[in-house]
Amino acid sequence: MAKIICVLYDDPIDGMPKIYARDDLPKVETYADGQKLPTPNGIDFQPGELLGSVSGELGLRKYLEGHGHELIVTSSKDGEDSVLDRELHDAEIVISQPFWPAYMTAERISKAPKLKMIVTAGIGSDHTDLAAASNHNITVAEVTYCNSISVAEHVVMMILGLVRNYIPSYQWVIKDGWNIADCVARSYDVEGMHVGTVAAGRIGLAVLRRLKPFDMHLHYFDRHRLPVSVEQELNLHWHPNVEDMVKVCDVVTINCPLHHETENLFDAALLGKMKRGAYIVNTARGKIVDRDAVVAALESGQLAGYAGDVWYPQPAPVDHPWRKMPHHGMTPHISGTSLSAQARYAAGTREILECYFEGRPIRDEYLIVDKGGLAGVGARSYSK
Ligand code: NDP
Repeated sequence: MAKIICVLYDDPIDGMPKIYARDDLPKVETYADGQKLPTPNGIDFQPGELLGSVSGELGLRKYLEGHGHELIVTSSKDGEDSVLDRELHDAEIVISQPFWPAYMTAERISKAPKLKMIVTAGIGSDHTDLAAASNHNITVAEVTYCNSISVAEHVVMMILGLVRNYIPSYQWVIKDGWNIADCVARSYDVEGMHVGTVAAGRIGLAVLRRLKPFDMHLHYFDRHRLPVSVEQELNLHWHPNVEDMVKVCDVVTINCPLHHETENLFDAALLGKMKRGAYIVNTARGKIVDRDAVVAALESGQLAGYAGDVWYPQPAPVDHPWRKMPHHGMTPHISGTSLSAQARYAAGTREILECYFEGRPIRDEYLIVDKGGLAGVGARSYSK
């Protein structure tokens, strides 16, 4: 019987919700590219419940214990004496979410001789050392597409929030003010602006589609071009490199995976090539931008605003400079863990576990590393 460690974020400070804001979730039949939603044999939760925190347990306990497995759920993942480190030595599966990642480093992997699978309940497995996982023949799987639209919606919200100066205006209300001039002195319309996405995968393309009705000019940079029909439908401008794109954009949104080609991509030099007063929204990964260069660009006015939900490390320390930098609209890492998204990735995690325990193949679209190398969707998204 297997030991499974599931690392999840802490429960709400006032405890688990007793009642939810809404009674149900809309039914989503398929994803935009035709991919099927998760198809586990069953689920032991009500879609719409908080599943991503410790007490939510991703709805897995009944299923796993019912099959005789041991499930340890914890938020304790960092530091010498973390529960994760204490329990890892005989674990077979580690599950975590990118919002509260169990950093599965080569060192940790080497201390887990029985480890067979690392599951990302969400999308983006960069918190796992993929080379080390390959070398130890560990399967890495994630729930592709489960929260891509959730993130795309967050990106659109943040672009509008920054450009229209929403958060400072809201704060004037909280401060009992009616300071219209203070609110609008940094407020613009997005109509007519040029917006570009770094990567036009599931999230990047969904962002472009959602921004089209705002009458923005749409740009993208990706290693592979989208089909001509999509470029024509959305009137997209493709750029052969990121510099070319950022020079002409008022808003840049980052939607690529973190790997060695994208780490620190937005350094001081690239930020310096952007239009003065541009905005960046990064919901991809914190390490794709240079932390201090972003702060300097906001302070100098080179950037008019920066928003996103991804930081490094996570959770961000209290003295992380992005908490206090000017003109930011950061949230904790939440875009992909709405209650709607949780229902999908909890079901997807269950599907992956059922496949693993029943000896059935895990869908290609969920595989990142398998049989000693990048596999499935991982072979396309990540670089060796
Ligand atoms: P996809 O795999 O659908 O898209 C990723 C795209 O990035 C692909 O089109 C890929 O190109 C492109 N890409 C890869 N490397 C580069 C590069 N060096 N330069 C330019 N483009 C590149 O993934 P998603 O859209 O679903 O997710 C994207 C990322 O967003 C995830 O990897 C994750 O880091 C992040 N994410 C964040 C979440 C959050 O909660 N904030 C939740 C979900 C995801 P191609 O395939 O053409 O080579």
